[in-house]
Amino acid sequence: MERKTQSGYLVLADISGYTSFVAQTEIDHADVVISAMLETIIEKLGGMLTIVKLEGDAVFAYVPEGKVSSCEAMLELLDNTYRIYRESANTMYETATCPCKACKAIPTLDLKFFIHYGEYVVQKVAGIIDLMGNDVTLIHRLAKNHVTESTGWNGYVLFTGKCLENMKADKKPFIQQAETYEHLGNVETYIMNMHDRYEGMSQ
Ligand SMILES: [Zn+2]
Repeated sequence: MERKTQSGYLVLADISGYTSFVAQTEIDHADVVISAMLETIIEKLGGMLTIVKLEGDAVFAYVPEGKVSSCEAMLELLDNTYRIYRESANTMYETATCPCKACKAIPTLDLKFFIHYGEYVVQKVAGIIDLMGNDVTLIHRLAKNHVTESTGWNGYVLFTGKCLENMKADKKPFIQQAETYEHLGNVETYIMNMHDRYEGMSQ
């Protein structure tokens, strides 16, 4: 077992609406739809990030500090991932020939990204790699937040303040919020609507 603390960017890509999608639709076909979407996300993110694992409706990845040049480079990757996700979702919806509820509900799904900078230990146990540490816990807690409640957004990107500061990024284009988590305290968050970014890309 190897243990070494490293610094870098932790990235969580999470499909919104997954729980109700699975609960309200035929599980067999819902599974096919979600798998195809997750494959698309992994393929795109994997170009720059190291994929750690699938977590149900989410993909967890990281990239060591220094391998990402800027916030713009990260946003470009997320934009490209979001675009290909939306395109594949649209294609699946438009070409679906079966009348099942899962295919009809594809437009209710969306994609959100969480990016945090911090420390982690890459742990290798019996050939299985995982990431450990408080910052790893934090990025997973961030998936439970007040963004949709306060903005109505379902597809968005959320950076922590610590992350933008480390990237020396301009915070002005983001909406600033804060989340509080038990044992982890107050976390400054900076969000952008992926729908707006997507509209901008399509023009
Ligand atoms: Zn179907």
